[in-house]
Amino acid sequence: MAKNRTDELPVELKGEITPEKLIQSPKEDSDIKVIIDYKNIDVKPGWQDISRHGNKVKTYWNQWDSLGFKNGILCRKFENITGDEIKWQIVLLKALKRAVMEQLHNNITSGHLGIKKTLARVTNRFYWYGLRSDVEQWCKTCDICASKKTPQRKAKAPMKQYNVGAPLERVAIDIMGPLPQTKKANKYIMVIGDYFTRWTQAIAIRKIDAITVTHKLIDHFISIVGVPLQIHSDQGSSFEFEVFQQMCKILGIEKTRTTSMHPSSNGMIEKANKTIQNMLSAFVSSHQKDWDEYLQLLMIAYRSSEHNNRGIAMQDDI
Ligand SMILES: [Zn+2]
Repeated sequence: MAKNRTDELPVELKGEITPEKLIQSPKEDSDIKVIIDYKNIDVKPGWQDISRHGNKVKTYWNQWDSLGFKNGILCRKFENITGDEIKWQIVLLKALKRAVMEQLHNNITSGHLGIKKTLARVTNRFYWYGLRSDVEQWCKTCDICASKKTPQRKAKAPMKQYNVGAPLERVAIDIMGPLPQTKKANKYIMVIGDYFTRWTQAIAIRKIDAITVTHKLIDHFISIVGVPLQIHSDQGSSFEFEVFQQMCKILGIEKTRTTSMHPSSNGMIEKANKTIQNMLSAFVSSHQKDWDEYLQLLMIAYRSSEHNNRGIAMQDDI
């Protein structure tokens, strides 16, 4: 990525947000500095170096290949939801958030637009960990917005939706079974889906104790794509709840269990997991002894048939 250092900056900078500040002040943003220091020597740190840091560093680390320098400033590559447009955003330092929000929401030419439009303006130019909630918070607590009592007009054409978030920020896990036991003694299928990329994996497992589930997750998911920051499951039974609880503890991951939808997912991952489960159940009933042999082929078929597939992007993003 070092070769991108002389590339033109993707964003026009104004006011307080100067290239000098963006280059020099990472010292004051210790989280970004961790990543910048490794990027400068072009060496991706291992999980053992990153695990002691907070979610912010982990989130940037998960996006290692999407991060690069433009004119000496750390930027992030991101795609729109259909994957046909790639943009570079400036990775914003903590100290400059306020200036960006003032420019892109409060400024006279910005006109105090609502959350959605402000988000679009910000994500077209900048990225930072927690961007969505910061923008929401800023708009909700803006006095001028609150004083404009007129109801918001609906935009005539739907706005282009950008994915805000990152691969592995939130991963959904469901366990199917018990199923007919195969020759290899597998009885369950663990279905894992990434909220951001919608990439899905299914793994055959023998039993669902915390150790087995955790090891399978490490071997077939974490070692390939990385460590999720949050694991979400709708598991009903208290046994399954315990298993996930323990697994998250072992991995140092935050666990969520609510059924409320993640704002950016619209239940897409939940729906995808249901579709996969239906597809797998049909297959298992016709291949009772060897369904595990075909599981990966079935997943390839599923990924290539899925609408809005971002399976390839997942490989690029991580
Ligand atoms: Zn406002």
